[in-house]
Amino acid sequence: MLKHTNFVFEILITFILGCNFDRNKMFTKNFATSTTCDLPNHASISSLNRSLKLDGEIQFENLRYAAKDFGNRYTYHPAAILNPKSVSDISNLINFIFQMGPTSGLTVAPRGHGHSLEGQAQAHQGVVINMESLAKSQEMNFHINGDTKTKTPFVDVSAGALWIDILHESLKHGLAPKSWTDYLHLTVGGTLSNAGISGQAFRHGPQINNVHQLEVVTGTGQVVTCTKEINSDLFYGVLGGLGQFGIITRAHISLEPAPKMVKWIRVLYSDFATFTDDQEHLISSSNGSFDYIEGFVLINRTGILNNWRSSFKNKDTVQAGRLFSEEKTVYCLEIAKYFKQEDSVKIDQKVENLLSKLNYNESTLFISQVSYVEFLDRVHVSELKLQEKGLWDVPHPWLNLLVPKTKIYKFANEVFGKILPDTSNGPILIYPVDKSRWDTKTSMVTPNEDVFYLVAFLSSAMPSSTGTDGLDYILSQNKRILEVCETAKLETKQYLPHYNTQDEWKQHFGSRWDDFVRRKYTYDPLAILTPGQRIFQKSVSFL
Ligand code: FAD
Repeated sequence: MLKHTNFVFEILITFILGCNFDRNKMFTKNFATSTTCDLPNHASISSLNRSLKLDGEIQFENLRYAAKDFGNRYTYHPAAILNPKSVSDISNLINFIFQMGPTSGLTVAPRGHGHSLEGQAQAHQGVVINMESLAKSQEMNFHINGDTKTKTPFVDVSAGALWIDILHESLKHGLAPKSWTDYLHLTVGGTLSNAGISGQAFRHGPQINNVHQLEVVTGTGQVVTCTKEINSDLFYGVLGGLGQFGIITRAHISLEPAPKMVKWIRVLYSDFATFTDDQEHLISSSNGSFDYIEGFVLINRTGILNNWRSSFKNKDTVQAGRLFSEEKTVYCLEIAKYFKQEDSVKIDQKVENLLSKLNYNESTLFISQVSYVEFLDRVHVSELKLQEKGLWDVPHPWLNLLVPKTKIYKFANEVFGKILPDTSNGPILIYPVDKSRWDTKTSMVTPNEDVFYLVAFLSSAMPSSTGTDGLDYILSQNKRILEVCETAKLETKQYLPHYNTQDEWKQHFGSRWDDFVRRKYTYDPLAILTPGQRIFQKSVSFL
């Protein structure tokens, strides 16, 4: 079992890299006064089939895939799956359910690539919309010269499109999106409903800051085009809105000239303060700096060097190995510099100059040169290896936290090495971003400080294990981490948040809760949409 765990870790490190809920507790203050709905009965489900005129189709069998996700811990069976071929399929379905009124109990969940962790794209006895089916019948339209207003290139895509497909299509025009996630086999709608954060966010902001027009189907079935200027309340609401205010059907995504190659670099630190000082220095000097800045923690991982040797060059592996064996906890800064073929002569000097300003342990410089696509799609390589071993579909009790800059030292002190004796269950990412350059009008919730760290505990659990690589053990560690954040008043926020009670959601949104509820009432008054987030429950109180 331990062997498996190590294998999972070694592969996942390249990420860097790398139900029972109480329905009655889910009501908001206002929704709470309402009568709880029954689950939909057969009559309401079959009326869907009879009454809807669709370009695509609705299926009532083979529904199991829609009751699963990457987290592999929650299973809510839907009553049907809609495979839309047009936006009006989605709008007709939602409007039909809206017209049925609150008592039907029917809910609707858009499902992107199903890489949620806790059933967020599922709908218990509701209808799951397969957004990838919509993408198959919609084109990607490239606007190389932008529009009259932006004058910068963008692509108009289906929200069910995968980022990896957008990358390949954009490259045909010599262009690429600016802001990514570490893994590209996710849909546009799925990441825009959260934020989409990766090592480019320090410069470009998250993916939700790199779209300038959306088409949305609201919870009444209305199809609305929105931008920062037109229907801006809905535009900002759905970005980071956890699928609560509408289903995104199309998005305009900003593009930039694509590089060809990437210098991919890892350097190590034994001192946490030096590591974070360098990270913070790098994200503050936006232009002329590296193009991607992340980092990760290695606790008791002496074997990791063997894994890196195959893909990274290092002048002095013996010295680097000594650092691992002497230090229990080592911090790795991961950075990348993009370049075009014609710049390949100058790039080494450029990288050397940038590196000379950093304070990593000498002899721990690992450099690799890969194509832009290889770099961006790096996690997929690991996915294929894990799938081959049957280790991709294990439970993933991930915990993603946003930690304010002034609290990161205390956080690290409490968590690394104390709560976590090692990092063999999966990588721990840690890197800062500066939201003073972000558009913060979206629904995404962040800590109060401008600079905060994304700390991602990306654990994989071995299904039948009761040991330290088992689900219960990892969940108990996650709980302890959250408790430390609470008791030490670290003012962290969850990213890809998951809660069971209304009070927890209220606390998560803080002063923005009232606005979140107002938008729900405005755009999805019957709480039909995206029940798997467990924020609101379909109710009769509104209207
Ligand atoms: P789904 O899981 O299908 O849906 C996610 C949520 O969005 C659900 O609530 C769903 O109902 C809703 N939704 C889906 N489509 C739409 C739509 N069109 N309109 C409105 N709501 C919709 N995140 C990062 O930010 N950075 C990373 O680097 C990163 N790396 C990851 C690596 C891996 C291996 C995995 C599994 C996840 C990673 N994530 C990362 C998290 C990921 O961004 C989210 O889980 C995302 O929601 C998954 O996209 P999806 O298409 O699978 O969405």
